[in-house]
Amino acid sequence: MEEIVGKIHSIESLATLDGDGVRYGVFLVDCPLRCVYCHNPDTWANPTACQPISARRLADKVLRYKPYFKNGGGVTFSGGEPLLQADFIAQCGQYLNEMGIGYCLDTCGCVELTESVKNAVQGAELIILDIKMYDKASYQKYVKGDLDKVLAFGDYCNSLGKRMWLRTVIIPHINDFEQAIDKYADLTACWTNIEKYELLAFHTMGFDKYKALGIVNQLADTPALDIDKLNTLQDYLNKRRNTNDN
Ligand code: SF4
Repeated sequence: MEEIVGKIHSIESLATLDGDGVRYGVFLVDCPLRCVYCHNPDTWANPTACQPISARRLADKVLRYKPYFKNGGGVTFSGGEPLLQADFIAQCGQYLNEMGIGYCLDTCGCVELTESVKNAVQGAELIILDIKMYDKASYQKYVKGDLDKVLAFGDYCNSLGKRMWLRTVIIPHINDFEQAIDKYADLTACWTNIEKYELLAFHTMGFDKYKALGIVNQLADTPALDIDKLNTLQDYLNKRRNTNDN
């Protein structure tokens, strides 16, 4: 089999947030979106500045960490948008699965459902899907993408019975109100395999990257989201989802 070379931005060898257990986080370069709140602009601002690595070599590097992958731990492919390199993920994922190591995809889902993307999804044990904005107009305005692609991607994952976690970043004055949360709940109500839906607080920790990269930060005057507000909206979402289930 021809070895596929992936373009990696960085690696976090003992992460804990994006998936079950201890994770080996692989951040790939480039992204189809331009979220106004992106805290990783360095992953797409200069995609040629990357570490090339073959699927086999990456899998062999991961294998050294296998003893840490208890309680469902494994690899998380993130970015940027990992599914822009779906063939690389599918090949590396196949090697990992042969080693008894699972992988998770942390994705915006705003990709075409090509055979390559389907292969990468089919091999994954968990899909973490960002539902960035709540309708087509806000998705186009704030992240420069097509919400229909994300919904088609979610439908596909759901049709496979894939485990799914959903995430939405809540930004002051953009989506920090109950009517927006209603729409997120309604958009995702038909997916039956969602294990959890987490709201995340917008923060300002990536602001320095914009300065260093010379990119305009459209939210430079937006404060971090108040945690009490986040918790209130999370409770509201949980209740809405329970109502949808009944
Ligand atoms: S999808 Fe992620 S990496 Fe891409 S622009 Fe949005 S926040 Fe940034």
